[in-house]
Order: sequence, then C-alpha cells, then structure tokens
Amino acid sequence: MFTITLRPKKEDSLLRFHPWVFSGAVASVDGSPSEGDVVRVAASDGTPLALGHYQIGSIAVRVLTFDCNEQITDDFWHRRIKQAYTVRRALGLISGNNDTYRLVHGEGDFLPGLIIDIYGDTAVMQAHSVGMHLMRKTLAQAVASQVDGVKNVYYKSEGTLPYKAPLDDRGDGYLIGTESTCISTENGLKFNIDWLRGQKTGFFVDQRENRSLLERYAHGRRVLNMFCYTGGFSVYALRGGALTVHSVDSSAKAVELVGRNVSLNFPDCANHEAYAEDAFKFLDSLGGSEYDLVILDPPAFAKHRGAIHNALQGYRKLNQKAFEKIAPDSILFTFSCSQVIDKEMFRLAVFSAAAAAKRKVRILHQLTQPQDHPINIYHPEGEYLKGLVLYVE
Ligand code: SAH
Repeated sequence: MFTITLRPKKEDSLLRFHPWVFSGAVASVDGSPSEGDVVRVAASDGTPLALGHYQIGSIAVRVLTFDCNEQITDDFWHRRIKQAYTVRRALGLISGNNDTYRLVHGEGDFLPGLIIDIYGDTAVMQAHSVGMHLMRKTLAQAVASQVDGVKNVYYKSEGTLPYKAPLDDRGDGYLIGTESTCISTENGLKFNIDWLRGQKTGFFVDQRENRSLLERYAHGRRVLNMFCYTGGFSVYALRGGALTVHSVDSSAKAVELVGRNVSLNFPDCANHEAYAEDAFKFLDSLGGSEYDLVILDPPAFAKHRGAIHNALQGYRKLNQKAFEKIAPDSILFTFSCSQVIDKEMFRLAVFSAAAAAKRKVRILHQLTQPQDHPINIYHPEGEYLKGLVLYVE
C-alpha cells in the first residue's frame, strides 16, 4: 500500500475525524498510486492516521477508516452496507407504506463518494469517486445480499465520476438484475421512478419529510408547486385536500412525469394542471393572489464557493417575486439545496426578499434533510438542504 505523508501540522483535521485530505496538505506521495487505490495517510513524523481512496484533484484522499489496521477487503464493504441498512431500519422508515429511501449518503454513512437510493426492489447506485467506481460490483452484491427485497442494482455514474479519470468502463447499467418496475411507494403515495433518464437517481428522496409537512397545510388551499420535477409536493398537496394544484417546471419531461404521477394516485383528478415554463417568467405573469400555498424548490443555484454571491441574488429575486404575488394569509415553503450556502445565508436572502416585497412574514418551521441523509458530525459539508416554512400576511 502506498503512503501519503502530510506536511507538518496538517494532521489536525484528521485527528478530528474529518474525512478529506486536501492536496495542499500533502508533503509527499510514496510511489505512484493510481486514482482509486486505497492509500495510507501518515502525519509528517510518520504516524499512520487513516486509510482512504486516493484521488486526483483538490481532495487527495477520502478517508474510509481511521483504524489503520483495518483490512479493506470485500468484508469491509459488506459491513459498511450492513451498518447503513441497520441505521435505516432503526429509523422506522421502511414499511409496506414506504419503500423509497436513501440507503447510503456518502460521508454520512462513512462511505465517501457513494450514494445509494432504494426504490422498491431496485437500488440505484451513484459513485462520485474512482475508488467507489472500482468497488461497484462488490457494493452491488453487498446491497442485493443484505437489503431485504432488493433484486436489481442499477449503476448510474456517468455524470458524477471525475470526467478526466482514465476509466475503461464508466457505463451506466444494471450490475444485478436486468430490468425492473419503475413504481415505488413513499408514505403510501405511488411514484414512477425513471432512473434511466431522470435527474440524479431518478427522484428527490430528500424532500420526503417536507412533503409530509406540506400535506398538513394543503387543505382548502390553492397550491403552486414551482420546480416540481416529478411532482412530489403536488401529489402530497392533492392528498392533503388542496383546492387546486398547479405544477411548474422548465423541463417538458418533468411536466409529463408530474401528470403521470398525479394520475397514478388520483386517476380522476380534475384539480391539477402542469405547466412547462420558466419559474421566474411564470411568477411575473401572475396577477397576484392566485395562490395561497407556494413551494419554491429550485436546483442548487451555487455549485461551488465562487458562485455564492450570484446564487444569493438568485434566491433573493425568486423569493421576492413569490412574496409579491402570494395571496394574504398564505404559506410559503422555500428551499435551497446549495451545499455552499448555509442556513444563515439563505435565511438572510429570504429576509431581504420579504423586506423588499414589504410583507409581514413569520417563520413557522425551519427544515432540513431527512434522517436517511445523515450528517457525519465531523463532516459539516454533508449538510445541504435548508428550508423555511413562512406565514405571509
Ligand atoms: N421539488 C422537486 C425537485 C426539484 S429539482 C421534488 O420534490 O422532487 C429542480 C427542478 O427545477 C428540476 O426539475 C429542473 O428541471 C427545474 N428547473 C430548473 N430551472 C428552472 C427554471 N428556471 N424554471 C422552472 N424550473 C426549473
């Protein structure tokens, strides 16, 4: 095994169990490891600190274990998957009523660079590092053999692997099973999941708890679900007794998916409409007071730190338009999934938007990601979803 030796005093973050080694902290690399190899990380005095996957880029090593005597064999991967599943079962998430959940949330499950979402009998696996890519078959076997009910494992990493990595085979496809049904159940509601063509793993599992909360507020309201994608919030609002639900997404494919998901749950639904339109234009076109429950769940406006300033302007502008158009005595669910924007920054952007629209606004709930997207306490970067539920007079 190759050893990566750190510069003096650069071991502190590893001693605090942070799972990343930045390339700037590296003094020397013994030999020439390939990207994805398991390497040993040592302090400048040679003390072994951790084992992890070697990477080319600003993160040089993603730590797998701080126990340098641990063997990174197939058994190691099986144990980590088992641990993740044990936690999911302890959360009480898995039932006949709910077979849609995240099994592995990267660093939050001590599996840096790996995401696995479960949709009924299919697991969709996404690698963000070459190290995880190289282990994909072992990981797929670990999932299929340990997670009850999983018969298929689909690998979907073409868009998430480092694009420069010289890999022979990065193709998406089934690692286990051949094809599978595309309908999963979330809190008793049915969703078509299209992992082949959909965004990310095919569905945004992370909004499950927030959709449930929305359902409680939907009764008798005229709902606008902006950035609806597969229509998760729309379907919950309909079950909650909304008067009308309008879903908006710039993608025609998403709008088609919402329609299918609404029909799947409410075959004779007459109070839902979907529009393929830009959210900002749609809000501009409103007269005002058409809606009294609005959801804003845009894609990440900032994907890296350099984009924070523009992203905050984007959140402010979007929320201001919503505050200007929402009816009196309304509820606004507003989200940001940009990891680099923390909850204080987001709250400030929404605060500025409310002030600019001169509305009287109260915070009812402060939302985050659900329990199957756990945050490793030593890796605050794992926290990304923020939301506010506001009462707007
Ligand atoms: N709320 C969804 C997830 C939203 S993902 C859920 O619960 O599943 C973000 C969505 O915003 C994507 O579907 C994308 O197509 C859409 N989108 C991106 N830019 C947009 C824009 N300017 N106007 C409307 N929709 C947009």
